Amino acid sequence: MNKRILIIGGVAGGASVAARVRRLDESAEIIMFEKGPNVSFSNCSLPFHLSGIVEDSESLVLMDPLVFKNQYNIIARTSSEVTAINRQEKTVTVKDLLTGKEYKESYDKLFLSPGANPILPRIEGIDNENVFTVRNVVDIKKLNTYIKENKSNKIAVIGGGFIGMEVAENLELGGYKVTLVEALDQVMAPFDYDMAQILHKEMMDKGINLVLGDGIQKIEESSIELASGKKLDAEVVVMAIGVRPEITLAKESGLEIGETGAIKVDHNYRTSDKNIYAVGDAIEVYNKLTRKQSRLALAGPAQRQARAAADHVFGRGSRNTGVIGSSCVQVFDMNAASTGLNEKSAKAAGINYDFVYIIPGDKVGLMPNSNPMHFKLIFEVPTGSILGAQAIGKGNVDKRIDVIAAMITMGATLEDLKELELCYSPIFGTAKDVVNFAALVGINILNGVFKQVPVTAVRELVEANAFIVDVREKDEYEEGHLVNSVNIPLSELRQRMSEIPKDTPVYLHCRSSQRSYNALMALINSGYDNVKNISGSYLGISNYEYFNDQITGRNKIVTEYNFN
Ligand SMILES: Cc1cc2nc3c(=O)[nH]c(=O)nc-3n(C[C@H](O)[C@H](O)[C@H](O)COP(=O)(O)OP(=O)(O)OC[C@H]3O[C@@H](n4cnc5c(N)ncnc54)[C@H](O)[C@@H]3O)c2cc1C
Repeated sequence: MNKRILIIGGVAGGASVAARVRRLDESAEIIMFEKGPNVSFSNCSLPFHLSGIVEDSESLVLMDPLVFKNQYNIIARTSSEVTAINRQEKTVTVKDLLTGKEYKESYDKLFLSPGANPILPRIEGIDNENVFTVRNVVDIKKLNTYIKENKSNKIAVIGGGFIGMEVAENLELGGYKVTLVEALDQVMAPFDYDMAQILHKEMMDKGINLVLGDGIQKIEESSIELASGKKLDAEVVVMAIGVRPEITLAKESGLEIGETGAIKVDHNYRTSDKNIYAVGDAIEVYNKLTRKQSRLALAGPAQRQARAAADHVFGRGSRNTGVIGSSCVQVFDMNAASTGLNEKSAKAAGINYDFVYIIPGDKVGLMPNSNPMHFKLIFEVPTGSILGAQAIGKGNVDKRIDVIAAMITMGATLEDLKELELCYSPIFGTAKDVVNFAALVGINILNGVFKQVPVTAVRELVEANAFIVDVREKDEYEEGHLVNSVNIPLSELRQRMSEIPKDTPVYLHCRSSQRSYNALMALINSGYDNVKNISGSYLGISNYEYFNDQITGRNKIVTEYNFN
């Protein structure tokens, strides 16, 4: 008898399950239920409609039910909400949202891919007509239409995760005045605080009013009030403080819910009922680095899970080795990508780690559009296993982070990364690629060849009048330097070594740490054991200090910044 496959949710995970099942079984009866009016749309492209980069909202819909039927013999029922799963009788109850009619459909196997819902705190004004979320094509059309029809100009985006960031950027590009409010002290949780400062600077430079460390507590017609009591003009509010897995049906039908509040699944994405599978944002996944259950609301994993779950129904095994979490986002002229653990998550997981922060050129300096790339690599101590990386710059950060994601997936160490043979031409990169370079620095740190202090420690050092040596050339120093630092250019270091004390801690930096590393080695090899490198050097310090300097008006520790 033909298999009857029902699928709840018709977008990333659901549509992928349907397509995979059809490829595996020509005779299966496949019905996909979607409560919204569209199936298979590009969630990830939604924010780009606000700037006009995606001009026509209809183009966000990738396939309609007719194409599903004609090309794949898949029945896609839109405006059809599954309201109950009746596990004993192996049926689902469906409500046709256009007619109000309810009916039942039976299944041999049921797949859940209901996604996640935007979190909406129960604050005053949250139900106002000027409050929006962004989850589907209907949402983005509603938001865009409201803004245009009401000629709104001041818009507040609440939440600095990647959806909030993309919405804020696209609104700003669309010509609106945007405030972004984030309750934490930084945007983009996958990045460490030091790296996030580069994004803060970029947003501030491009005109976003960025408010950190404050939450929303009240929404009014044309303003919002924050927890601090601060009032901000906002004719429109977009809520993007995170998503919660959609588990209503799973819970009501008695399926097991995991410790993170998402649907619990096994190695093959099977729920606690052997005839029901679940994939996507609604499930709990195993993080192979922290070795803990976690949630990961990303499109790539949803599609992989969908394929694996469908395969399992048809007797094909697939490996499920857990997730590491890789993502990327564009923030105006900066590209930002990350994978695996950052310092915060490594610390929280109790993993002994160290890190590398380098800022090499993303391609050979002679080439057009060569720019610094901020690159941070996290590795385990003492094994040297690669745990994660973050990259921010104008160039192809995603390529570098994808390499690291591949290395983590293969269980690689710094030595493997050092030896990794990558393609090179000056227009694309450098002969020793950013990632090889990071491995070399990491190996030095792991082997105790030299010691480092992070950019986060520099302010305290400057304020304590520590002995800081700037080994850049004199003209570079004069253009901007750390307050109280001493300038001994690398080119003069060997003649002027006696100016550097041996009995007090000494901190070295240059522009990007390349020259300071050479200076450090010259000193270490001349008997100095009191010297440390400031990782990230002057570029890192400038980027780290800038945003907080601007918003707090505190004393600067640099005479002038250098960002290039
Ligand atoms: C604005 C935005 C930007 C994003 N950008 C990126 C990105 O750049 N990169 C990335 O990796 N990920 C991104 N994502 C996340 C990615 O889209 C999701 O991780 C992915 O879509 C999850 O797939 P899913 O099938 O679990 O859920 P979804 O794709 O959300 O699909 C779930 C569907 O199920 C339907 N549904 C729920 N309950 C029922 C029911 N009872 N009956 C019928 N239908 C139901 C919902 O209406 C929904 O359409 C973005 C998400 C958004 C919203």
